[in-house]
Amino acid sequence: MNASARIIPITSELKAAAPATGALAAPLDGSLVDLRQRRVRDLRISVTDRCNFRCVYCMPKEVFDHDYAFLPRTDLLSFEEIVRIARIFVDQGVEKIRITGGEPLLRRHIENLIEQLAKLPVELTLTTNGSLLVKKARALRDAGLDRVTVSLDGLDDAVFRRMNDVDYPVSDVLDGIAAAAAVGLAPIKVNCVVKRGSNDDQILPLARHFRNSGHILRFIEFMDVGASNGWRMDEVLPSADVIACIHAEFPLQAIDANYHGEVAGRWRYLDGGGEIGVISSVTQAFCSSCTRIRLSTEGQLYTCLFAQGGHDLRALLREGGDDEKLQRLIANVWRGRDDRYSEIRSAATALPQGSSKIEMSYIGG
Ligand code: SAM
Ligand code: SF4
Ligand code: SF4
Repeated sequence: MNASARIIPITSELKAAAPATGALAAPLDGSLVDLRQRRVRDLRISVTDRCNFRCVYCMPKEVFDHDYAFLPRTDLLSFEEIVRIARIFVDQGVEKIRITGGEPLLRRHIENLIEQLAKLPVELTLTTNGSLLVKKARALRDAGLDRVTVSLDGLDDAVFRRMNDVDYPVSDVLDGIAAAAAVGLAPIKVNCVVKRGSNDDQILPLARHFRNSGHILRFIEFMDVGASNGWRMDEVLPSADVIACIHAEFPLQAIDANYHGEVAGRWRYLDGGGEIGVISSVTQAFCSSCTRIRLSTEGQLYTCLFAQGGHDLRALLREGGDDEKLQRLIANVWRGRDDRYSEIRSAATALPQGSSKIEMSYIGG
């Protein structure tokens, strides 16, 4: 598959499931809200569609092989373009920016982008597979990054190597987490995607390892993102089962969200060992409070992880569009937003045949 083949037409089932929409939403207080009265709060920026891992649930080797056409460099937004767009989003109410990918630390001189974004009044974070953190943690912190989230799908070396599918050792990622903690990129969130039958035996070892560490371990349900990971419902381990498994060894108690729209359900160890989180994107959709918007590596704006198409900001930028035009486009995109894919999918249980979805490595997780 090549880069331009990622978007296939919207299905009639999904269209039919969406409610009829009238005129653009008219916010009472002048703030930017979508058709479901959700504010725009989080901007996720993908800085590369490339990665040095081939996680089985994200970039399976068979698809992302030597022949795969990644985006050419000229198609990527430059740092200047990214910062310009980010600034406009902040003016529209964005409070959090997450840098992602692909593997964002593969983007050359990423710390220069961080340095510019850090001047904006936002919480600035980055999601990484951790493989380059030992090398980069200090520069990222010095550039002004607030926190990192590190993906880690197992503690057992053999399981971890199987999940990343490039034979990458778990010890290097653990060293990366330690390096990030040492420079103060904390609290660190550690994300584990659970695939039933592949790495669900890692739930307890991970919980034992990160208890009392100050890091927040989070388990994510395997999602039907993209069109290449062969997603099946029976490979999703519901978060409720994850909680039950940990609770049997370390009693847990549910705690309140930190803020409206937080995606992770929070639980604390009753004996004071810290907290864990679960992201139940499949079994408990949280679309009603979804405040996220995504900017792809090549400047397409997506209002949902499962959006059927993007809005081309790069074209407007490169045609010489001024800030006002960009601002108007962004506002119109958000005001017209009606996405609630996970709610629709939960009701339907499976995706309609022939539906199209954008790869996570392209749109950014
Ligand atoms: N390469 C970086 C990393 O792995 O952290 C950043 C990009 S990755 C696409 C962002 C997040 O998406 C990771 O935490 C990853 O585990 C998650 N992810 C990717 N594919 C997923 C899937 N099918 N279901 C659930 N989470 C997924
Ligand atoms: Fe790469 Fe992250 Fe996808 Fe794994 S989850 S293949 S590390 S982009
Ligand atoms: Fe947000 Fe779309 Fe995910 Fe729902 S499915 S939570 S609208 S990104």
